[in-house]
Amino acid sequence: MKFTVLTLFPDLIRCICDESILGRAQKAGFISVEAVDIRAYSKDKHHRVDDTPYGGGKGMLIAAPPVYDCWHDVKGHLTGSVRTIYLSPQGRLLTQKKAAQLKAYDNLLLLCGHYEGIDARVLEEIVDEEISVGDYVLTGGELPACLLIDAVARLCPGVLADPSCYENESIASGLLEYPQYTRPVEFHGKRVPEVLLNGDHAQIERWRHQEALSLTRKKRPDLI
Ligand code: SAM
Repeated sequence: MKFTVLTLFPDLIRCICDESILGRAQKAGFISVEAVDIRAYSKDKHHRVDDTPYGGGKGMLIAAPPVYDCWHDVKGHLTGSVRTIYLSPQGRLLTQKKAAQLKAYDNLLLLCGHYEGIDARVLEEIVDEEISVGDYVLTGGELPACLLIDAVARLCPGVLADPSCYENESIASGLLEYPQYTRPVEFHGKRVPEVLLNGDHAQIERWRHQEALSLTRKKRPDLI
């Protein structure tokens, strides 16, 4: 799967997506993340991309022409299915279910706003869907784009060593995940539950399911 991020701050995307699991997945060819600088499409001699909003008001708005030219150029070079997503506090909330749906596309084209946002006319023309990462307002769409990439990428084949890594996880399984422990067997006077040490896998599975149920009831009863 290919993620192409249209942004005024491409280094923000690279510094997150080129590290750790996403960085390794890119090197191994399981996913690709490209950040494209919208500013490179400005026809202004000072490479300006923003302007004051018509009708007055505070802040600056990213103008339609460089966004359109950037999107048009990038899209023209992509093969396979493409979904254009504008990261926006006005969009539908990003959920695990949405991440799983987006995995079906060959390409996700992620448009990041900044300042007061982007001229509404170009959004109307190029955006298939708006996605929000939560009911709060951030300074730009770059962190939301990285959240979306991370949530979708880890569902792509090869990115995680074993698909069961995410199938049992909180939310994806419908319940919160059971508590987990690693060495040492005792920490600050607390021992790892004995059931996890006895090697009886059927008993361990039952215990984990019970723990997942009771944690979900306690922390997120709305999921049950
Ligand atoms: N004036 C816009 C409004 O009221 O809807 C908010 C603009 S916000 C300061 C700048 C950019 O950050 C947005 O264009 C969007 O790309 C991004 N952004 C901010 N909050 C977001 C959120 N919760 N989810 C996704 N993107 C967000």
